[in-house]
Amino acid sequence: MKIFPDFIAGSKRQILIADDEYINRELLENILSDEYDVLKAEDGEMAYEMIKQNRKTLSLILLDLNMPRMRGLDILAQMNEDPYLKGIPVIVLTSDQDSEVASLKRGAYDFIPKPYPQPDVIKARISRSIELAENRQIISATERDELTGLYNIEYFYRYCNQFDRFYPDTEMDALCLDVNHFHVLNERFGIEKGDEILKKIAERLEAVFADQASFICRKAADTFLVYCLHQDDYTKTAEMISSVGDELQTVIKIRVGVYSNCDKKLDLHRRFDRAKIASDKIRNNYTVFVNEFDEALIDAELFSGQLVDEFPKALAEKHFKVFFQPKFDIRGDKPALASAEALVRWFHPTLGMISPGAFIPLFEEDGLIATLDEYVWREAAKQVADWKSRLGVSVPVSVNLSRADLYDPNLVNAMKRIVDENGLGTEDMYLEITESAYVSDSNQIVNQVKELREHGFFVEMDDFGSGYSSLNMITELPLDALKLDMKFIRTAFDKQNDTRMISIVIDIADYLGVPAIAEGVETEEQYLELKKLGCSIIQGYYFSKPVPAEDFEKFLLEKQASKM
Ligand code: C2E
Ligand code: MG
Ligand code: MG
Repeated sequence: MKIFPDFIAGSKRQILIADDEYINRELLENILSDEYDVLKAEDGEMAYEMIKQNRKTLSLILLDLNMPRMRGLDILAQMNEDPYLKGIPVIVLTSDQDSEVASLKRGAYDFIPKPYPQPDVIKARISRSIELAENRQIISATERDELTGLYNIEYFYRYCNQFDRFYPDTEMDALCLDVNHFHVLNERFGIEKGDEILKKIAERLEAVFADQASFICRKAADTFLVYCLHQDDYTKTAEMISSVGDELQTVIKIRVGVYSNCDKKLDLHRRFDRAKIASDKIRNNYTVFVNEFDEALIDAELFSGQLVDEFPKALAEKHFKVFFQPKFDIRGDKPALASAEALVRWFHPTLGMISPGAFIPLFEEDGLIATLDEYVWREAAKQVADWKSRLGVSVPVSVNLSRADLYDPNLVNAMKRIVDENGLGTEDMYLEITESAYVSDSNQIVNQVKELREHGFFVEMDDFGSGYSSLNMITELPLDALKLDMKFIRTAFDKQNDTRMISIVIDIADYLGVPAIAEGVETEEQYLELKKLGCSIIQGYYFSKPVPAEDFEKFLLEKQASKM
């Protein structure tokens, strides 16, 4: 196996000559500079500093044992302790036979006696040591990812750095490619097929980038990195790679984050972080495959960081407020208040009101969501209890659950406790679970939802139609209502007024024997059309935006009055 890609193989390897005597340095440099790129250090400390700085590119060190400020043997000992330096081969330069043994014991590859032998002897020993060290690295088998045969991350970074050193002015792009919702593919088809998909993607990547200087690695399960010559557009690339799905008879979406014409002053990690940020931004976008990093994304990241940092304080100081949005049953002559959805808002002392779309996804990633959700459930339950006792009237309030909540083995107990402590029953608190959570890790989550229902909780599948449940899957999922994804309403009433999709979803709900709930209903026209199509319940600005608890009371009082 070649250790350097072809276009680097012809380039010179780098050697450090560490010797305090000027004449020795010059002599060795004369012998070596045709074949190698030579660095020179004139005392021990300087040598050690240069070794650390050039650790990624140094192929060999020629080390004099007797130098001022740090002895050669001490440098060897320090290098041995440092996993990053340990692999760099060292040839010791010495006139003292005893030290030869001591230095070989400390990991030196070889020695060259002083006064120096013939140049050919020196060159032969050097190239043999380099070869030995490079082979050793290959033998350790860590260079390649076992599954795909691509570079692993460590070697990938080494080669990219190497390349930058040789071609500092070449414009390069850092790409981060992710398979959208790979865990779903794994779940649906099994690990073996998942592995096969990853292998195919790797092959395709190699083919796509074969005709240009490029490095490719698999960074983690389904994340690939590419460092390649700059190009303006990667749409075609993304399409070509995603089309491995055709071969495997499944739909695969590869999203590509691009940090274009990277700033080489940033280290590689940061360059690829930027590509990753760009890729993650389109994770939930089903039409965009390629996203380019720009500085505004960094601002967004900083903003996200700020929200995450400030969460504990905001919770303690009660900056989170629960709003309520009514849901109306439209099956009768007049719409009748049926329930409400609890939706959280963050009233930030300097930033004003922040809507949940800005922080829920962040908190889901950072593991804060469980704490926030439990807080919201508690507040919602307290509110229902207060309406009951003070107004003598209430409606069930549905709260949102995140996927992370469903992994908590204590969830059912926690929910029961919240209901009990407020003197409520499970009929007072409904649960909304988004479709994608159901599908992402079916067994565990489905069992959890089943248990919630067995304890009497009413479960609404939220955003139905945005996730991935197949039609035969949906019949087996535990649920009590289907909440249509808002996108159906948007597209149906957009321009063409095509309500066929809504009608299909309502049919599915009928088939399952559960009510269909439409959210995002904004106009009378939409309301009337949905009623005609057989939708049971609607929620949306047409009736009311989500409002603070005090403002919601008017709906309760109207309901009460209508009964009298
Ligand atoms: P969702 O559960 O699907 O909630 C419906 C969203 O649609 C709410 O946005 C609501 O304000 C908005 N909406 C309702 N009617 C209309 C309408 O007629 N037109 C338009 N354009 N929008 C309408 P909101 O409050 O910003 O919440 C967004 C999402 O954040 C929610 O989507 C839910 O997934 C999540 N979320 C909100 N509160 C919580 C919470 O306490 N816990 C968790 N885990 N997620 C929450
Ligand atoms: Mg909801
Ligand atoms: Mg929804």
